[in-house]
Amino acid sequence: MVYLSKYIVVTGGVVSSIGKGITAASIGRILRSYGVDVTAIKIDPYLNWDSGTLNPYQHGEVFVTEDGMETDLDLGHYERFLDVNLSGKSNITTGKVYSSVINHERKGDYLGSCVQIIPHITNKIKDMVRKIAQESQAEVVLVEVGGTVGDIESQPFLEALRQLRNEEGHDNVMFVHVTYVPYLRAAGEFKTKPTQHSTKELRSTGIIPDMIICRSELSIDQPLKNKIAHFCDVEREAVINTPDVGSIYEVPLIINRENVGEYIINRIKIDACEQDLTEWEKVVESLKQEDYQVSVGIIGKYVELEDAYMSIRESLKHAAANLGIKVNIEWIQAENIIDEEKVSHLDSILIPGGFGERGISGKLDAVRYSLQNKVPLFGICLGMQCMVIEFARLEGFEGAHSTEFDTETTYPVIDLMEEQKKIKNMGGTMRLGSYPCKLKDGTMAHEAYGEEEVSERHRHRYELNNDYRDVLREKGLIISGTSPDDFLVEMIELKDHPWFLGCQFHPEFKSRPNKAHPIFVSFLRAALENHKHKSGN
Ligand code: GLN
Repeated sequence: MVYLSKYIVVTGGVVSSIGKGITAASIGRILRSYGVDVTAIKIDPYLNWDSGTLNPYQHGEVFVTEDGMETDLDLGHYERFLDVNLSGKSNITTGKVYSSVINHERKGDYLGSCVQIIPHITNKIKDMVRKIAQESQAEVVLVEVGGTVGDIESQPFLEALRQLRNEEGHDNVMFVHVTYVPYLRAAGEFKTKPTQHSTKELRSTGIIPDMIICRSELSIDQPLKNKIAHFCDVEREAVINTPDVGSIYEVPLIINRENVGEYIINRIKIDACEQDLTEWEKVVESLKQEDYQVSVGIIGKYVELEDAYMSIRESLKHAAANLGIKVNIEWIQAENIIDEEKVSHLDSILIPGGFGERGISGKLDAVRYSLQNKVPLFGICLGMQCMVIEFARLEGFEGAHSTEFDTETTYPVIDLMEEQKKIKNMGGTMRLGSYPCKLKDGTMAHEAYGEEEVSERHRHRYELNNDYRDVLREKGLIISGTSPDDFLVEMIELKDHPWFLGCQFHPEFKSRPNKAHPIFVSFLRAALENHKHKSGN
């Protein structure tokens, strides 16, 4: 059966990094509050096939989906705001579109045609978008086009989406343009001209926006919105303002006050129930804790760009809200020496995932500090590997290492599995996506999850070397989680330590504002205990 979805296409103008993804995700959350089933697509017009090979400084963290696709971090926002698991196909890149079209051409599928951007590339884009609609059976599909209108790379996508409106009909597709309205302090006024220009640029692609969402530093007033409506030719009620706010989770409440949901429901004729936003309001309220503050030091290589650890940051916020506390994150550069001075004031330490040798010695310093001073330490992926390496070194395996960093080490406690050794390509060849993990009775991991078996998302090549499993166990390392066949170590912890837990997977990809992740909650609970202990109450 062909399922008829409606599409909301979100474009951006003026400047990048204005929170187009958050805005689109907030629209989705509002529609969900009317009982509408929503899914999301992120279009990234770059040529990379996926974001797996991108340096985090380029576009922030790589978000991993259940089905093991390495995607743009906006998919993380969508999963958290919509509370759904998205398919990796929801991230469409120029690389995926072109490689698919070229594959068809090589197979002779175009029967002698000259293969061109229009219609072959644009048709492929529409097919990919419609496929997500079909597979998800969502009533509304949000389609966010990355970049800003006017970029050469995004032109085929805009053309395809313009055609989509024509083919699906006016009542089934709407366009939302997100712009930035700067406030000029010297002149003491907001300027609408950049919004007018970018709307004009959008119109030159044949797309007429139905709604303009103006991001701004401060709130803009109705006369200014009317001016934008007038010059950009949209209805007055369709000019929406989202000024800067303290928490991204407040954005749905802000756009709700501007009646975004009602406008969209009427514009694309959606069957909606009565609105119920109470769950989200509760989430926002619970995030506003100020009274009890607990600190976490994140020891990473990309700490100058918080987006590089987006899901971890959000997971910590969710867990803190769950415990009724506020978490203060301190970003600590792993490339420096990590000593007492850097970490002794902290209630807890977290070592995130990563690749490459840079920063490893700082991470190992942090593990040693945690072991010697009994400070709660949470290691994720590379973080867990560092815990195992430093633990082994302190237990007498001098020079123990991961073969990722030292192929000649005498004690390769972290190593590649045989099947990984044959792989030459970098893209999409790691252990990726969701895998089951069996938990050992009586461990912290088991207690935190409260379940026998869980499923978590992975993104790594290296594993704890099974040759060292028994000796490490003899030294006191607890293997608290393994693959169901017991072959791969998924979680480790220690007995004589208040909280020393590492996982080979990335729990941060599954935390939601309304469903804090149990391991993050358990970690912050230990941080809170340490905080109380340190402050003597
Ligand atoms: N570099 C390590 C590996 O490939 C860890 C990866 C990660 O932390 N995501 O196994």
